[in-house]
Amino acid sequence: MDLHDEQEKILVSACLAGRHCRYDGKEKGISLIAQLVEEGKMIPVCPESAGGLMIPREPSEIRGDKVFSRTGEDVTAQYRLGAQRCLKVCQLHHCRIAVLKAKSPSCGKGLVHNGRFDGGLVEGDGIFTQLLKEHGITVLTEDEFLQEYGK
Ligand code: SF4
Repeated sequence: MDLHDEQEKILVSACLAGRHCRYDGKEKGISLIAQLVEEGKMIPVCPESAGGLMIPREPSEIRGDKVFSRTGEDVTAQYRLGAQRCLKVCQLHHCRIAVLKAKSPSCGKGLVHNGRFDGGLVEGDGIFTQLLKEHGITVLTEDEFLQEYGK
C-alpha cells in the first residue's frame, strides 16, 4: 500500500475517521486516518449504519453465524445488508485494502466478542470483514495499520 499514490484508495471504518456512528453514538477517531479521509485517500464506511441500524443502538455480538443485540433481537439481516452495501462502495473505488475497527461484530478481524456480552473475545471476523475477505480484500486492524504507517 502506498499512501502517496493518489490512484489507490483505501476503505476504512467510519468511526476510525471520527464519525459518531458507533452503537453508543461515540467515535474512535485516529488523527492520521481522519486526515487521509479529508485528503480523499481513504473512503469511510459504516456497515451497521448502512444496514439501517440506528445511532445510538443496542450493542450486538456474533453468536454462531448470526448476530444478536444484547436484548436478543436477531439483527443478522441488517448486518448482512450493510456489509453488502459497503462492499459495493469498496468495489466502486477499487479498494484492495480496508482498515477496520478491531473487535467489532461488523469490522473486527481475528478477534470478536464472544456473544455473551461479558467482554470476552473469541477468534473470528466480523460480518463485513468476512465478506471483504471473500472478495479478496486485505483487511488490517487500526493497530496493524498504525504499526506499518503511523510513524
Ligand atoms: S460498524 Fe464498523 S464503522 Fe460502523 S461503528 Fe461499528 S466498527 Fe465503526
